[in-house]
Order: sequence, then structure tokens, then C-alpha cells
Amino acid sequence: MSAQEYFDQGELVAVLTTQPLDRALDYKAPEGGCFLGAFVEVPLGPRKVLGVVWGPGQGGFDLGKARSVIRVLEVAPMREEMRLFLGKVADYTLTPMPAMLRLATRAPGLGDPPSMRKVYRMGTGQPDRMTDARTRVLEVLRDYGGLAFTLKELAEQAGVTPSVVKGLVKQGAVREEDSPRDLPYPHLDPDLPGKDLTEDQGAAVERLHAGQRTGDYGTTLLKGVTGSGKTEVYLEAVAETLRMGRQALVLLPEIALTAEFLMRVEERFGARPAEWHSGATMTERRRVWRMVGQGDAQLVVGARSALFLPFRNLGLVVVDEEHDTSYKQEDGVHYSARDMAVLRSSICGARVILASATPSLESWANAEAGKYERLDLTARFGAAVLPEMKSIDMRAEQLQPGTWISPSLRQAVRQRIERGEQSLLFINRRGYAPVTLCRACGAQIACDHCDARMVEHRFLKRLMCHQCGETKPMPEACPSCGVEGKLAPVGPGIERLAEEAEATFPDAKIAMLSSDLFGSARALKAKIEEIAKGDADIVIGTQLVAKGHNFPKLTLVGVIDADLSLHGADLRAAERTFQLMRQVAGRAGRADKPGQALLQTFQPEHPVIRAILSGDEEGFWRAEAAGRQAAGVPPYGRMAGIVLSGPEVGPVFDIGNAMARNDGALREIGAQVFGPAPAPIARIRGRHRVRLLVKAPKGAPVQDAIARWIAPLRLKGDIRLTVDIDPQSFY
Ligand code: ADP
Ligand code: ZN
Repeated sequence: MSAQEYFDQGELVAVLTTQPLDRALDYKAPEGGCFLGAFVEVPLGPRKVLGVVWGPGQGGFDLGKARSVIRVLEVAPMREEMRLFLGKVADYTLTPMPAMLRLATRAPGLGDPPSMRKVYRMGTGQPDRMTDARTRVLEVLRDYGGLAFTLKELAEQAGVTPSVVKGLVKQGAVREEDSPRDLPYPHLDPDLPGKDLTEDQGAAVERLHAGQRTGDYGTTLLKGVTGSGKTEVYLEAVAETLRMGRQALVLLPEIALTAEFLMRVEERFGARPAEWHSGATMTERRRVWRMVGQGDAQLVVGARSALFLPFRNLGLVVVDEEHDTSYKQEDGVHYSARDMAVLRSSICGARVILASATPSLESWANAEAGKYERLDLTARFGAAVLPEMKSIDMRAEQLQPGTWISPSLRQAVRQRIERGEQSLLFINRRGYAPVTLCRACGAQIACDHCDARMVEHRFLKRLMCHQCGETKPMPEACPSCGVEGKLAPVGPGIERLAEEAEATFPDAKIAMLSSDLFGSARALKAKIEEIAKGDADIVIGTQLVAKGHNFPKLTLVGVIDADLSLHGADLRAAERTFQLMRQVAGRAGRADKPGQALLQTFQPEHPVIRAILSGDEEGFWRAEAAGRQAAGVPPYGRMAGIVLSGPEVGPVFDIGNAMARNDGALREIGAQVFGPAPAPIARIRGRHRVRLLVKAPKGAPVQDAIARWIAPLRLKGDIRLTVDIDPQSFY
């Protein structure tokens, strides 16, 4: 028998709210009753809060005391599949349900009646006299048939001031109406002609379509070098989804990617999709949320939290650049959007495409194990070939102190400038210099609140902490010894590298790409487009440029410090370096000119550097997989990170030690606990951080054991505990 779907007025219902309570609360169904899953407003103490009808009430108290649901909001009830999904994510990530509900309702004013705005269309009246301006307005309205414009749109289209339109309204020649703001998204047409696919691409599309037609869940790893046409291929899968009358979601790691991407979607389907990201306005977010729920948005392009939108009939989720670390949310709810995309799709019978040139080891292993289908696109589209990759052995290069561009790299860049081609110098460090050192006393300037050095940002004329964002002006005197004029930068950041490049190549046009140099995502997008058109000889970039942009004139990539990410206690250091270097190298030689990638390294024999240079990807993954298997770490074992933090270090350690001693629940499932130890960043924003690491065999019920382990804890004062299942980074 199916669960009760409808509750009559006065019946008790359990309502899950967004408030941090440990359970759903009972209320009486309002006048007219309500459906299971209905979004409602309920009284909580003196307040009104948002909630969802989660099931029948528990009762067991004096019914006369039960309060009533205030009202049912005018939005589609939450579907069963979504309730299931939220519950499973909560169990998986050990997140309380109210926090999950907040994630699923991240749009303001969900229950408000749709707000109105003024729109303008053709009226029936005649203007008393015609002017050129008035004629143009009426022409625009006539040209666009019955379409309604906002005042701004109409005035701009006609090239007149708004007062001209207002004048016509007074005469009845233009009609002013109120129209709801949350309009459906324009229709996307999957049957517009796509590009002619290559044989490889066509075969991949066939396989994807075959999977889609089963109507069942399935995940495909779509692996292909940058430029091989993965995007073209998955857009065809999106087209098939739309033909089947289902909705599609494309997740992208960075807002910076969307400018180019949205244009491609528009080219393929004739209209723009719905966008969901942190840069969207509140009104836009609300429109997306509502339209997705009522099926009036066929395709959403968005950041990771788009996964929690209330899709009515989700048929496909694409996770582009699936290896990207930004898919792991690391505050609030610690979830991996890639893994949760798979979970959500398995619940609602959707397909998943994980696209990458350099997949994560997890996805690679899942494909090896036969859990995912794997499709490879081997060739780059057109004449573009993979760049030639070489190392520059820095031990043999002669460099002036305080410079980082080796003579070999300098010569290669000069050649490109002469040929009118672009070079990219890649360094994964923002700011001017990572360290500011006092030459009098040897002290390094550190953040007052964190266990981190302050990074000089000359562009902003300030020192900045990359942990907490704290900034302060560059002091004249050393904060430790008070001596003036002895502070000196140590090591390179992107700004310092740009300075060196300007001095080395005085005639070249140099462009810097770093997330903090642009006031807005839009400004950054504009810059990227300029560069793609060829408006720079040398691009200096942080890891921002490693991601999917197309720079057709780029034929040389110089990696300033290939060793930088090799070090680090992180179990994924090798994998990350491998991916990053290959992605960066993939920027070169995209169009008709072959590219070259030069990696400056002090360790050319390092296995990761050698794997990158030889291009033996499968070899690299097999070796990396074997190493992890031997160590019993992910994806061949389970891990969870526990971070305790508080204003005083002593009490935080005491709790950590107590947890380590009382590890019975963990031992029962064969798990071990390591620590407590100071976290790699031992202090953030004035809070001391202590870390424990849980390691368990693959398949062990880790979440359940951890839940039982931490349940008896009573955290006093300002001490906080966070659990991160499948941690991606170890900070
Ligand atoms: P990837 O996503 O693998 O990096 P893209 O799909 O972005 O690759 O393709 C790289 C470039 O080649 C894009 O400009 C794309 O439009 C073009 N391209 C790929 N396949 C085709 C095709 N079959 N016909 C025309 N252009 C193509
Ligand atoms: Zn700080």
C-alpha cells in the first residue's frame, strides 16, 4: 500500500522545517487539507517558518494543543523522489534534515505570489501626432508580433528614451500591463541541426542515446582529451533528453565557464537555458526554482547546488570536468556533487554523464569495475593535436635570484611572439609573493587569526590571508622587530611573474588571469573572451585557466613550478598534479597549430612528472590505483575526517582524546581512528582545529558507526564538530 498522499483539514501532519530541530513537528492540516510534500508555513514559537509536510503526525500528546499549518504555499509539493534523495544525502553525509531542506529551498520568497512587473505591448489607440521616435517604437512592437517588452527593453530596441514610450501609453497606442515576473523559460528545440559529428563522436552519441532509451538509471564516464568534442557529444544527449520530454541538468565547476558554454547551448537549441549559480540575482534564482518545479525549464546549467532543485522529470545530469575539486562542498553540508548526482539519478531513473579529460581516480576505478560505462574520444577535433610535452630541468638552468622564467622557456616564448602566437605562463599562486620576510629579524608576516602566512597582493596594495580573507596594508616596519624598510617578498605569485614577464618581454602584450583581479564574474568572462580573440601575446594565469576555455592562438604553455603541488600530505597530491598539468597542457594547440608544453621542474625523474611527459595515462592510473589499494585508502577503503574546533586548544584536544579512547563503535566495523592531531591548518579565524581521521574497509557502514560514536558527545561552550565523509582535502 502506498503512503497516505492527502491529509484532510484537522488531521495531524508531521512538518519538517528549515529550523535546526532534531525532528519533524506535528501540526493540524489547514483548511482545505494538504498534500504530502506540500510546502507550508507553520508557527514556531512567535515566528512563522517554512516547512514541508513529511508524513502523518506522530501524535501522542493532547490534540487540543496542536497548532495549525498557517497556509500551503503556491508551489508544487516536494516529490517523493526528492524527499528520498534528501534523506539519503542526510544519512550519507551525516547532516541533519533541516540543513538538507535549507539546501533544497535556496531561493527567496518561495511562497510569495509571483511578483509583478510592467510590460508593454501594442495598443489600439492612435497617437495625436507621429514623430520619428514614436514611429520606431510602434515598428518594434509590430515587428515582434504580440511580444511584450519591459520599458527598458522597448526603449533600447527602438533607440528612444523611456519617456517616448510613456507618452504613447498615455495616448493608448501602447498598452501597459502587469505581468508575472517568474516567466517560463523559452522553449529549447532539440531538433535544430547540430554539428556534423566525427565517427568517434557519432559512435559515442549512439551509445549514450541507447542508454537513454532504456529510461533507467546509468552512469557513463565520457573521457576525451580537451578539444575532442565532449561538449558536442553530451549536448546531443541533452537533445535526446528534451525529445523524451524530460529535463536536463549540466553542472559546471566555475562560473567563468558559462559565457562560452551558454552561447554554445543557444546555438544548438535556439534559446538560452536556465542558469543557477551564486552570481544570479534573488529574482532569477526564484524563477529557476519555480520553473524547474513546474517543468517550464527544460535545461538548467548550474553550479553544484543545482542538484537540489525540484526537477519534475529529471532525465539527465552531466557533470562536466567531473574531477574538479570544487564539486566537493567543504562547508555547511559536506557533499560531493558528483557522487550525489549519481545518487539522485539512481533514484529518479536518470542518466549521468561524467565528462573529463583527466577523470578522478574514483570514476576511473568505477569504470574499471564495470559500475560505469566508459566512452573514450581519442582524437582532438580537426587538426588539433595534443601538445608535445617536455620538462625543463631547473637544476641545469641559470637563473638570476628573484626570477623564475628559465632561459629555455624564455626562448620558447620569444619564438611564439615572433610568430604571432600566444603563450601561457602558468603558476598556481595568487598574489605577488607567498611569503613576506623581514631581512632584519627573519620573521615572516603571519595572519593574526590563522596559522597561515599573509600573502602580498601588490595589485590591491595589501597583505591578505588566503584562509580567512583578512587583509591589512603592507607595513613599513616589521611587526616583530620594528625595523623599517627591510621587508622583502620571497617566492613568486602570479603578479610577480607578470612583473618579470614585462621586464623580459617589454614589447609583448601581457594579460593576467586570476580570480581576485576581477571585480565580477562578468569582467572575468569579458577578459577571457578578449584573450581568446587574440588580444594578448602572453597570458599569465592561475588554475583558473586550466579549465575548459578555448584559446585558439595559444601554442605554448610554460608551467613555472611543476613541483608545487607534488608535495603535500594529501593522498591525492599525485592525482591532482597529474590532472592539473594535463589540463594546463591541454590549453595549447587547440586549432590548427601544434602546441608545446614545457614543465619547469627540479625533479624530472619523479614518477608523476614522468607519467605526465610520457602521456601514459592508463599507466599512471594503474600505478596510483595499486598504491591506494595497498594502503587501503579511497577508492579502495573508506575515510572520514572529523574536525573539532574551539577558541581554546586544551578543551578541544581533551574531547579529541576522549573520542579516540572511546572508539568501540568504530572497532566493531573494523575501522581505525587516527589522531587527534593539530589540523594541517591549526588555527582558522582564531579557532584552534584538531583533526581525527577514520579509516574503514570498503563497504563498512561508516556513517552508522560514526553516528553512534559521536552521539554521546556533549560539546560544551563554543566547541564545534564537523564530519566530512570521503574528504577531498585535508586541511
Ligand atoms: P571538449 O569538450 O572535449 O573540450 P569541445 O566539444 O569543446 O571539446 O570541442 C572543441 C572545439 O571543437 C569546439 O570549438 C567545438 O565546437 C569544436 N568541435 C568539436 N566537434 C566538432 C564537430 N563535430 N564539428 C564542428 N566543430 C566541432
Ligand atoms: Zn587568516
